Amino acid sequence: MTEETKSLNFIEHIVEGDLRQGLDPSKLRFRFPPEPNGYLHIGHAASICLNFGMGLRYDAPVNLRFDDTNPSKEEQEYVDAIKKDIEWLGFEWDKELYASDYFDQLYNWAIQLIKNGKAYVDDQTSEQIAQQKGTPTQAGTESPYRNRSVQENLDLFEKMKNGDFDEGSHVLRAKIDMASTNMLMRDPVIYRVLKKPHHRTGEKWKIYPMYDWAHGESDYIEQISHSICTLEFKHHRELYDWFLDQVVDEELVRPKQREFARRNLSYTVMSKRKLLQLVEEGHVTGWDDPRMPTISGLRRRGYTPMSIRNFSETAGIAKRDNITDLALLEFQIRNELNKTAPRVMAVLDPLKIVITNYPEGKEELLLAENNPEDQDAGFRDLPFSGEIFIEKDDFLEEADKNFFRLKLGHEVRLKNGYIIKANEVIKDENGEIVEVHCTYDEDSRSGSGTEASMRRVKATIHWVSIKHALPAEVRLYDRLFTHEAPDANKEVDFKTYLNPDSLKVLENAFVEPSLANVMPGDKFQFQRLGYFNVDDESTKEHLIFNRTVSLKDNWAKKGKKH
Ligand code: ATP
Ligand code: MG
Repeated sequence: MTEETKSLNFIEHIVEGDLRQGLDPSKLRFRFPPEPNGYLHIGHAASICLNFGMGLRYDAPVNLRFDDTNPSKEEQEYVDAIKKDIEWLGFEWDKELYASDYFDQLYNWAIQLIKNGKAYVDDQTSEQIAQQKGTPTQAGTESPYRNRSVQENLDLFEKMKNGDFDEGSHVLRAKIDMASTNMLMRDPVIYRVLKKPHHRTGEKWKIYPMYDWAHGESDYIEQISHSICTLEFKHHRELYDWFLDQVVDEELVRPKQREFARRNLSYTVMSKRKLLQLVEEGHVTGWDDPRMPTISGLRRRGYTPMSIRNFSETAGIAKRDNITDLALLEFQIRNELNKTAPRVMAVLDPLKIVITNYPEGKEELLLAENNPEDQDAGFRDLPFSGEIFIEKDDFLEEADKNFFRLKLGHEVRLKNGYIIKANEVIKDENGEIVEVHCTYDEDSRSGSGTEASMRRVKATIHWVSIKHALPAEVRLYDRLFTHEAPDANKEVDFKTYLNPDSLKVLENAFVEPSLANVMPGDKFQFQRLGYFNVDDESTKEHLIFNRTVSLKDNWAKKGKKH
């Protein structure tokens, strides 16, 4: 899908409306403004695809702006990870910018506010200030410091800046309206004292601007035409506009804030604070754990940039809060990998099969099609011998007529190979099956053109030749949470719903030898088992595969289990 052929979402309709009203198309400019306090997640991808998508559609620049106004939570590690993820998604930003680059300008504007009688220093504690806020139906109380002289405010603000005051002792507030029906307009704090080093400005600042003050003014400095944010900022729009009113020059572009609904995904949480908690408490192995809804987690799980972009496009941009079904994301990757992933064979839980009538010591190469969905994918050689592994649950000693796989006295076809028949079960002293003795029909090799090769049996199963197979570790992932909306109920800790079976590690798996030289990020369909991605920690000596998704939606089949 190209930008031109996609239908417009409601934000793009707003932009179109502005263009019709005479906005110069060359003035269009967008931004993606992450706070570098965590890794990007699939929710951010919605915002990235929206903003960069508009950049492509209108041939307009899109800035990457780090909203780094809170030094206590922000780190360089996050900046680097965010850049990597956006690049991986395939988007190019125009300029890499930081709200902290504007600290001087923001400070100077704050001085201007004070001089214009639009801001004052408040000596009260945050609790006292909160108590005076009032309620939505009742006006707030004015601070006793509200009517300080300009000179006194300038002196105190200077002292705040110089670090003469302790954290929490003084704030700078905009002087707006303590009776406003919008609580955010009741003299919001715009600067606080914070004696923390900043990841970019170091020890220079002892005061830091609040989000609302920094964000709109940063948009203005960068001449962003449309500042798109999520719905929880709807009430902030009035304040955003008030702050702009204090500084705009009519000649320049006045940014417009518009809001869309956050992307929520079922069976996961999206808040960075909660994701950080999962990481720090060891519920997952890191931000890039393949169970995480982070871009880095999805990448390690086996998702592709295209699957995430297609998901963002089909899930759409909504005006109201909603939960998008995880199945929609899985559908996208399944759909893509069905066309692109080479088919191979792997046995996750092996059972040894001895083909008693296969000539001792003989080996042969069978021909296997790499991808029936892709005519150019070609064929590969698949070694076969008299001892193979099949999946344990593909065999039953005795089974009813509904079990079509291998059972004593019955036949199955080995994928790309022969028809075998199970004759005898060998057990250990505990009664566990250790191997199954079979015979094969010598004339039945797939593709050989003989009558026996066309013979229909009830099932085809996958296998690997023991002598040739490579050992591998296989990690099967499931939903991280058992609840569709783990953090919807504020009374219950979202971690209560962690799925204890979200990871199953199979250390005794085997894969066909064509996988000897795979690299992290290579993707395959393990036939009959699902799509798998080579893990970042996989090496030639220790192969590790992550299951991205099963071949079908298993949850849909099982029905609503939770
Ligand atoms: P979180 O609550 O996960 O920490 P955030 O909004 O604080 O998210 P930011 O780094 O401030 O995270 O977000 C950067 C941009 O991405 C913002 O424009 C924000 O609106 C957008 N964004 C964040 N989460 C989502 C989401 N779930 N769906 C859509 N857009 C999102
Ligand atoms: Mg934020």
